[in-house]
Parts: sequence; C-alpha cells; structure tokens
Amino acid sequence: MRIILRTLAFAFHANPLTPPAAFPAARKHTMIESKLPDVGTTIFTVMSKLAADTGAINLGQGFPDFNADPALLDLVSQAMAQGHNQYPYMPGIAPLRAAISDKVASLYGRRYDADSEITVTSGATEALMATVLCAVQAGDEVVVIEPCYDSYLPSIRLAGGVAVPVPLRAPTQADPYYRVDWQKVRDAITPRTRLLMLNFPHNPTGAVLTQADLDTLEDIVRDTRVLLSSDEVYEHIVFDGQPHVSLASRPALAERAFVISSFGKTYHTTGWKIGYCCAPKALSAELRKVHQFMVFTVASPMQHALATYMQDASHAANLPAFYQAKRDRLARGLAATKFKALPCPGTFFMLADYGAISDLPEAEFSRWLTLEHGVAVIPVSAFYRQPAAPASNHQIVRFCFAKQDATLDEAIRRLQSV
Ligand code: PMP
Ligand code: GLN
Repeated sequence: MRIILRTLAFAFHANPLTPPAAFPAARKHTMIESKLPDVGTTIFTVMSKLAADTGAINLGQGFPDFNADPALLDLVSQAMAQGHNQYPYMPGIAPLRAAISDKVASLYGRRYDADSEITVTSGATEALMATVLCAVQAGDEVVVIEPCYDSYLPSIRLAGGVAVPVPLRAPTQADPYYRVDWQKVRDAITPRTRLLMLNFPHNPTGAVLTQADLDTLEDIVRDTRVLLSSDEVYEHIVFDGQPHVSLASRPALAERAFVISSFGKTYHTTGWKIGYCCAPKALSAELRKVHQFMVFTVASPMQHALATYMQDASHAANLPAFYQAKRDRLARGLAATKFKALPCPGTFFMLADYGAISDLPEAEFSRWLTLEHGVAVIPVSAFYRQPAAPASNHQIVRFCFAKQDATLDEAIRRLQSV
C-alpha cells in the first residue's frame, strides 16, 4: 500500500519525498486581486431574488412575464429537428445576418454588409463588452451618460479605460423629459476620449433621441477620434407615433459606430441571450476578434428560428402599440397612488417619484416596498457610479411594465395601499 501511495505521489510531484512548496501568500486563490472591486451581484438579480423569496410581484428586472409567440418557439424546435445543433458560423449564421442587414436597411437606410459588418452576439451584453474591449486601450477615456446601464462601467474598467460620466439633464416643469446635455458631452471630450457610449431609448429613464440630437452629435464628434457605441436594444419600443432615431441612419455617425441591439426585448425572449452588432468593416473585424474568444458563437437553433421569424416585419412593427397599452395601463394605475409617474417616451420601463411616500434612499425604499407591499422595483440609483451617494438618490424607482395586464393590475392594487 505504501509503495502504491509513494508511486502515486511521485506521479504528481517531482520529488515524492518533499511536500509541494506552499503557494506564496499572494498566489492563494483567496488573495486574488479583484479587477472589479466595487462590483457585487447586479441589482436586477438581487431584486428578482428578493421578489421570488418573498412572493412579491416582480416589476423590477426587465423581462416579460408572458411567453414568446408560439410560432417562434416552433421554429426553434424545427431547427433542432433539422439538425441545427452544432457550432454555427462564428459571426452568426448567414440568413440571420442577411435578415438583420435587410431590417436595418429598410428602417434606417444604411445597408450593412452581412458578411463583414454584422456580428451575432450573446445578447447585447456581449456586444457591449466586446465593443469596449476591442476599442478601448489602457488609459483611454470613455464618456458615459449617467444614469447608465450597469454593465458599462465594469466593461470600461476591465479594458483599463477611464470612465467619464456626464449626467442626463433631469426633467423640469417646463420640459418633463430626460435629455442629453450635449454641451456637457462636448466639454467632457478630450484628445484622450476614445469612445462615447449611448443608449437610446434609455434604460432606466425611457429618454429617446431626436434628429436634432443627432445633428449636435455629428457636430461634436466631427473632428475627433471618438468612436460611438449605440445600445439600441429598445429600438422597437418607442411610443406616441415617434420613429426610433438610430445612429445607423446618419452616415457620419455610423462610420464610427457600433450599433447594438437584442432580440430579447423585441421578441420576448430575454433568456435566449441573442443580440447583434452592426459596425463598419474595420470595427467589426476587431469586435469579432474579441467575440470569437469570449463566446465564439451563439446558440444555433435560435439563430435559425430568428432568421425565419424576422421575415415578417409586423412582429417588431406591432410592438409599440402592444407596449404603449401597457405603459398607459400602468400610468393610469399609478395616478391612483401616491407615486408620481414620469413621462415614458420609450422602453418598457416607467420611472415614478415616491417623494410623497418616503424619504428613504432608493435602494432602501425598493427593499421596503418589496417586503411591505409585495411589489419589487429597481432603484434608479443603481445606474449611478455611487449608488449610495445622496447625489445618486432622487426618490425615483423604475417599474417594468413588460407584464401581463393581470400582473400590472394586481401590482397597482397593492401600490394603492402604500
Ligand atoms: N443594454 C440595455 C440598456 C439593457 O436594458 C439590456 C438588458 N435589459 C441590455 C443591454 C442587455 O441585453 P441582453 O439581454 O440582450 O444582453
Ligand atoms: N436589462 C435588464 C433590466 O434593466 C436586466 C438584464 C439583466 O438582469 N442583466 O432590468
């Protein structure tokens, strides 16, 4: 027995008689130096778990509580049965890239080359991360509009970049919408700025861009080396008859832009994690270098199903009316509570001011509302660099209305007692 053990030990260590040297302290796995020391579990996961643990209605994390079109689900089953179960082509299957190219051309007037300028990604999240990792060198400055989606700042940090936040202009009596303060963007841009990250329609405020915004943006970036990342995952959820204003629609912007979207929002399939990035050839080539080592490619049967489903443009075209009815239902319901709903021109999120109810900071209020009244929401402060800072707390929470009418009605009933 001893001999067998000795032999085994020899197989694992060069010298069976001396124990392996202890790892130097700094190399113990518990001593890893965090690359994201300020990052915990995302607020979306925290609030969804709290809702699940307490049985609260979850109007927090942005996902529908209803199923996708059965026709789309059938297409996935068909694709699997037809054998589309192995690695698809690295940048995405050709029919899906062709369908994306057609859609963008018909809606925004720019024809991206399906072979070299469109990449199918693992959700918009991966497209955003790949954009930042391929575009930002250590020390480069990246301008972000605050509040901003939670993955932006960590991606900049991982790339070694320096985030330069510019606050959105808050609503006033005279103008009840959040808007970009372009003068502040202009002031934030320096010779070291490499990337400006935009997200319109905007999560969490619902703000949208106008043609005048794009005129100003063109003017701001004209003589700079600034690249643009345009997160347009809510491109099909813009209300009141307004068109979505895409950066793809302006040649002077599109030539320096990574335009990103997600099928999760458009087709009620957030769990599939499939999105895409349209960018000029040279930018797409760099993005693909990161994409191929981050995920290589994304789920095959879903890609085939989406390529077929996209042939019918009415699915996306009907989305504004579908969500506008839900937006209005929630707004009507909140009008009968102490919450004060803010206008929502786009996305499936509505902000509401709770100043008449409580002076708790937003995260505490959200927790309290979930535990005491059974409705989970997202504190808008979570979209700021320093969520706990007084400057990040405006007594505003975010409600997601991508929910069945019955879910919204029950939530409203509960909120009326607050
Ligand atoms: N950007 C924004 C603004 C989002 O709201 C989301 C998700 N809700 C994403 C990106 C991520 O999209 P995906 O789930 O396709 O990765
Ligand atoms: N984007 C979704 C939201 O804003 C959440 C996605 C996620 O949890 N990563 O609620």
